[in-house]
Amino acid sequence: MITANNIAIHLTYTCPLECSHCCFQSGPKVKTRLSEEIILDTVNAIDPEKIKMVAFTGGEPFLLYSTLLKAVEIASKKGVTTRVVTSAYFATSENNARKKLKELKDFGLDEISISWDDYHEEYVDFDVVRNAFLVSKSLGIRAAINIVQDANSKWDVSRVVLEMNGHCTEEDVLCETNLNLTGRAKEKLSERNSRNNRLLGPCPYVLSGPTLNAKGNLLACCGVIEEQGPLVISNELIPSEIMSDIENSYSNLLHKWLYLRGPFALLEEIRKKFDVPIPLEEHIGGNCESCQILFGSEYFGYAVEILKDKAQEIVNEEFLLSSMNMLDAKYTIDLWGKNVVNEKIPIIQL
Ligand code: SF4
Ligand code: SF4
Repeated sequence: MITANNIAIHLTYTCPLECSHCCFQSGPKVKTRLSEEIILDTVNAIDPEKIKMVAFTGGEPFLLYSTLLKAVEIASKKGVTTRVVTSAYFATSENNARKKLKELKDFGLDEISISWDDYHEEYVDFDVVRNAFLVSKSLGIRAAINIVQDANSKWDVSRVVLEMNGHCTEEDVLCETNLNLTGRAKEKLSERNSRNNRLLGPCPYVLSGPTLNAKGNLLACCGVIEEQGPLVISNELIPSEIMSDIENSYSNLLHKWLYLRGPFALLEEIRKKFDVPIPLEEHIGGNCESCQILFGSEYFGYAVEILKDKAQEIVNEEFLLSSMNMLDAKYTIDLWGKNVVNEKIPIIQL
C-alpha cells in the first residue's frame, strides 16, 4: 500500500520576500500561520515508526524561530529526521548564518533546503545562499539548493556550482524544477515559457508526504495549488489525530491515481472517454499545474466518473506493484512518466 513516510508543516505564510512564483502567495503582509500549540502538538503526535522525516516550511519558517527550535528538538528526540526549507534571508553574513544554524543543529536539525532562483534574486543576493549552504555543511547539516526555472532563467545548477567558488559540486544536492503556473505565478508569470524538458507523470509526493498547511488543513501532498479541496484529508486537524487521519486517507482512489499515474493521465482519460478537449501537454508546466487544471470545475466531475469506473483497476495496480516491491516513484515514473519536450524554445533576450 502507498503509505506516508514524511510530513511537511507550513508554520506560517508570512515571508520577508514576495517572490513572483510563490505558490502560497506568501509575503510580508500575509498573516496566516499556525499557533505554536498546534505545531508542537502535531510534532508530538507523529509516530516515528511510520514517519521518518518532518520538514518545517512556509512561507518563511525562520520567522517563527523559537517555535522552530522547539519543534526541531521534539522531532529529533523522537528519532525523526528534521528539515527546514528557507530562502536563507537571515544569512546576510557568515556570522549571522552560523548563529542561527549552529543553534538549530544543537537542537537536532539534520537538513536544510535552500530555495534560490531568478525570482528569489529580486529580493536577496546569492551571498545569503552561499553563507547558509557553506555554514550548514561545515556544521554537518545536509544542505540542498532548489532552483525553479522557466525557459529564460539565468540561474541553473552549473551557475550555482560556479558561484560557490569550488565549495560545491554537482554531486551536492542541487535540484532544478520547471516553473508551474500556480499561486502567484499564475498571475505574474503567465507570459513565461516552460523549460525545454520536463516530466509529466506519477506524483511521488501525494500520500507519501502529507502536509499540515498554515491554515490548519491536513492535505495529501504539499498542496501548492489553490483548489485544494480534493487533496484535503482533514479540514481542521486535531493534532492528536494526525496519524489516524493519514491512515484513513490511504483508501482515497484519487490520491492513489495521482501517485500511480499522475494528474495529466487523468486529463487524458477524460479526453478519451468524454471527448472533452484538454490543454496540450506542451502548454503545461508540470504535475502541479495539471492538478490545478484537473481540479477546476470544468474537469473534476468527469474525473470522479472515471475513478468510479477504474476503482478496481487502481487497487489491483497498487497491489501488484506492492507485491513486486515496485511501489516507488523510481518505478512508477519509469512506467508512466513522459518527458515533454518543447518544439520551439524562445530566444533568450538579455
Ligand atoms: S517562494 Fe519562498 S521565499 Fe519566496 S515568497 Fe514564497 S515562501 Fe517566501
Ligand atoms: S501534482 Fe498534484 S498531488 Fe502532486 S504535489 Fe502537485 S498538487 Fe499535489
